[in-house]
Amino acid sequence: MTEYTFTDDIARNHERATAEATDGAAFTAWIDGEAYETDATFKTRDPVADEPITTVPRCGAAEIEVAVDAARETFDGMWGNLSHIERADRLLAWVERLTNSVDELALLESLDTGKPLAFAEAEIRDGIEYIKYYAHLLYGETDERVPVGSDTHAYSRKEPYGVAGLIVPWNYPVLLTAWKLGPALAAGNTVVLKPAEQTPLTATRLAQLADGILPPGTLNVVHGFGNEAGSALTSHPGVDKLSFTGEDATGELVMGAAAKNITPVTLELGGKSPFVVFPDADLKAAAATAAEGIFYNTGQSCDALSRTLVHEDIYDEFMTLFEQAAAEWTVGDPLVDGTMVGPLASKQQFNKFREYVDIGRETDATLVTGGEAATGFDSGWFVEPTIFDNVDNDDRLAQEEIFGPVASVITFGSYTEAIELANDIDYGLASAVATTNLSLAHRAAADIEAGTVWINDYARFSPGLAFGGYKHSGIGRECGAETLDEYRQAKTVAIATEDVSLE
Ligand code: NAD
Repeated sequence: MTEYTFTDDIARNHERATAEATDGAAFTAWIDGEAYETDATFKTRDPVADEPITTVPRCGAAEIEVAVDAARETFDGMWGNLSHIERADRLLAWVERLTNSVDELALLESLDTGKPLAFAEAEIRDGIEYIKYYAHLLYGETDERVPVGSDTHAYSRKEPYGVAGLIVPWNYPVLLTAWKLGPALAAGNTVVLKPAEQTPLTATRLAQLADGILPPGTLNVVHGFGNEAGSALTSHPGVDKLSFTGEDATGELVMGAAAKNITPVTLELGGKSPFVVFPDADLKAAAATAAEGIFYNTGQSCDALSRTLVHEDIYDEFMTLFEQAAAEWTVGDPLVDGTMVGPLASKQQFNKFREYVDIGRETDATLVTGGEAATGFDSGWFVEPTIFDNVDNDDRLAQEEIFGPVASVITFGSYTEAIELANDIDYGLASAVATTNLSLAHRAAADIEAGTVWINDYARFSPGLAFGGYKHSGIGRECGAETLDEYRQAKTVAIATEDVSLE
């Protein structure tokens, strides 16, 4: 793979990288083990050069129909009849192929999303680990016998739903896809995947790389827009299970569509996560966590620590350190080693960033740093890492998900106030606490209403750790062993044993 340096011209870098990434590749839909083209197409764009990367099929209800049929046939046939060990073996063979393709996938992901190449690579390696984890879980599978009484032999079978419809957003395309594909396929479902229209490239490659390993029809990829391919998938009566990651407003639509067919649905939605910095914290480390929590992935993380709650006694010292830590998040060409902050993923996100900076400026909050488009770029959606302090937790800046590198700092004077502020929000996805007091850490972990609480850290993920939202941040969990059961249903079998006689 070509190496790029800061001395290179960014536009030239991206022209070369796009040529390298798309050379000989076809980013079609993938249905029943084959490339699937449509007359209607759309272009996916590079958020750095703001140039089209390539053209992708614009699928709708007709293609969803074909894909669901293919998935059903394979579920009823080949994939559905494999033993759990055979499924695990195939998933691991796929993992091996994916591992050999990390560089290629990372370049596609970086071009499509604008995230630094090194971060794209880390994301893809992590995603592969999740698929591997679910394959390994299968080797340890046991069925459960349920004690009832001497007249009954009873057990519970765990059966896949059938066809799973999976819908993902654009901020971590491979990782979030792997979070769904791993358990859905391991549990024995076949899938129809609808990637985000902004970042379609890696999904097609994931499916192509499964060719010859997963039976045709096991993993189908249908590109397109939310209100076309997405809504066709969520309302399709042949889909037995839905898993959606995206905005809470879209989640409502997905849940409404699922309700019509009584389709079980997992929802992974937005967040506005608090980072509570207690006065006894290691402040330098806390400042670094605060910066990483809001600037990683240019703030486009569902679990971003976008509300920084700081005790008033350490406020001045913390703010000095937070500003210093923010300055280390250098904005630059995502292809160049050392870049920490790429552009926002689209013009829409760029406009949203500006809108919320304006909203913040109209309040009593103080703009500490950032707030502008980053300079030095001829094109692209580059913005400055931004911190507002003196934010009121009731302001829109603190209550609404911006999905950009904008931190809102809020002060508190007591433990009770800190927890009240942390919980005074509709969301409940993630949270973090900085303290050196073990008891305080455990107490805060219990009191904060969120699916995850990180202590003295941010984004400590592992395949075995469940992730998901309280309140409006979602329903159900991803990751962790329990997520296998999000993709299968239990069947009770009870056998009468009292009348057995050989006479
Ligand atoms: P989005 O809701 O706009 O789109 C997500 C996906 O849903 C896309 O594939 C889109 O095409 C599809 N979609 C849109 N309308 C649809 C409809 N009517 N029916 C079916 N599908 C439809 O979200 P986004 O802007 O792509 O992603 C950002 C959001 O995702 C943020 O709110 C973020 O917090 C959330 N997110 C949550 C998690 C989590 O694990 N909880 C992880 C990452 C992102």
